[in-house]
Amino acid sequence: MPRSALLPGSTVGILGGGQLGRLLAISAAKLGLKTIVYAPEEDSPAFQVASAHYRAAYDDEAHLRAFAKACDVITFEFENVPADTLRIAGAHSIVRPSPVAAEVAQDRIAEKRFLSSLGIPIAPYAPIGSRDDLEQARAFLSRAGKGLLKRSREGYDGKGQKRVSTRDELDAAFGEFDAPCVLEGIVRFSAELSVIAVRPAEGEMLCYDVPENTHRGGVLRTSKVPASIPSGVQSAAQTIARKIASALDYVGVLGVELFLVPEGGANRLLVNEIAPRVHNSGHWTLDACVVSQFENHIRAIAGWPLGGTERHSNALMTNLLGSDVVGWREILLRDPHASLYLYGKTDVREGRKLGHVTQITPREKK
Ligand code: AMP
Repeated sequence: MPRSALLPGSTVGILGGGQLGRLLAISAAKLGLKTIVYAPEEDSPAFQVASAHYRAAYDDEAHLRAFAKACDVITFEFENVPADTLRIAGAHSIVRPSPVAAEVAQDRIAEKRFLSSLGIPIAPYAPIGSRDDLEQARAFLSRAGKGLLKRSREGYDGKGQKRVSTRDELDAAFGEFDAPCVLEGIVRFSAELSVIAVRPAEGEMLCYDVPENTHRGGVLRTSKVPASIPSGVQSAAQTIARKIASALDYVGVLGVELFLVPEGGANRLLVNEIAPRVHNSGHWTLDACVVSQFENHIRAIAGWPLGGTERHSNALMTNLLGSDVVGWREILLRDPHASLYLYGKTDVREGRKLGHVTQITPREKK
């Protein structure tokens, strides 16, 4: 066993208390590891299943220090953990993946520059760091016809985004966000895909099969494996993820969201964004693989051998968004093989991720 590997009974710290943290904590418990979840929200779903938790602000240094000192390794379940929080955590414990991955992913402008520096194709865009960049963005919009203005920071699940097609709309949306943005060209994709990869501290990176994803209002609705994609696309997508992970010297699970774009009889892959954490489009791995993305993330950050990423079944994962969740009983009655996950959230807001259901069917014979 590598010298830095955690022993069973060690403590994993998780920054962020949402459903991803909850599912990570459950996987850690399966492996005989304790978890401490750190999050500011009182009703954090991960608190319910962790060995212990801190409910404190991300800039509360005293609590952060106490948390970090109690953990043998610390991970994060969302990329917008403030850089200072990760720095303090890193001063007292090991943070995996490295804070650099979070820094890149939490700023769309930095993320796009990073991807371009690796020669990875992305959607055409104009950065708008300040009002001074607006003229260039207006020119980009006149050429493109329409675009999607996205806040550079703190946007997720389609939030902090606005479709614009005129200069006035662009100016108004930028004024409303009142923050650095990117203006992206609208991509005419034939499918949305994602790579769920896991990279150990030492050894070879592994990938799960690439799911095909659908969205509703910018929020993931379904993920399906196998994806209906031409041969070669999966391995091309995985090669992109490999490049990103090795450039970041990444440890843990990495999500890479991609657009598949038909182009003159061929297909092009464009990266939409990277998620330095377990990913919603990998939830099906809980039921269709022996070792899920959550368990493999914990194994990777603990310095343990990874589990195989092959799937034994086909799967369709459906998010239960907002009022969808009231149908949970019917889902179980309708399909005794449906695997249901409810996140323990009490506030049923429209579009909020409250649970998911995975239906598996026997895998196609090769
Ligand atoms: P994001 O928050 O960037 O992941 O965007 C959420 C969803 O909005 C994506 O999964 C796509 O369905 C859609 N979307 C984002 N960017 C673009 C784009 N440039 N062109 C077309 N659709 C997009």
